[in-house]
Amino acid sequence: MFMTDENIDEEAPREFQTETPCPSCGQKLFFIFYRTKVNYEEAVEIETFFCKKCLYKSSQIRPLEREAPKKLVLEVRNHDDLRTILYRSPEARIEIPELEADINPGEISTGEITTIEGILTRLLEKLDLFDEEDVDIGRLNEVKSHIKAIIDGSGERFTFVMDDPLGKSRINSSRVIVLHKSDD
Ligand SMILES: [Zn+2]
Repeated sequence: MFMTDENIDEEAPREFQTETPCPSCGQKLFFIFYRTKVNYEEAVEIETFFCKKCLYKSSQIRPLEREAPKKLVLEVRNHDDLRTILYRSPEARIEIPELEADINPGEISTGEITTIEGILTRLLEKLDLFDEEDVDIGRLNEVKSHIKAIIDGSGERFTFVMDDPLGKSRINSSRVIVLHKSDD
């Protein structure tokens, strides 16, 4: 009578202290691990490294099931479209042909729920880190001002492409075009 069992899908998080030092303060990190269901995935594992001293936190969402590889294409026409919510799986690659921009999944890429604006903002931050010796600075500035114009709502329309070998990514828009790559 004291407890109900309604959350059978949810596993209780497991937690233990690791030998890994916190990158921020050096205290040993805690590792928290659990399985759950989220909106865009059937089942995921969520792994978190957590520092109890300085509250540093690093999470990774891992899908448990694969789907057929697919490509999602959305024409971003106006400022409202930037607020489109998307789920990017850990292996999804993003392309914006008009900007000649590719965003590859990082080495320790995590799945994320974000918006198109969130992706563009991060792209801008990454471009700021480019070494001026390695790139054509004129071209770099051109791309940066193009992205800033899009975020400010004065940019031209562009195509947002998410190429996902895991097939788990979603773009929350009725205008999204889904191309399956499993037919060949
Ligand atoms: Zn810490």
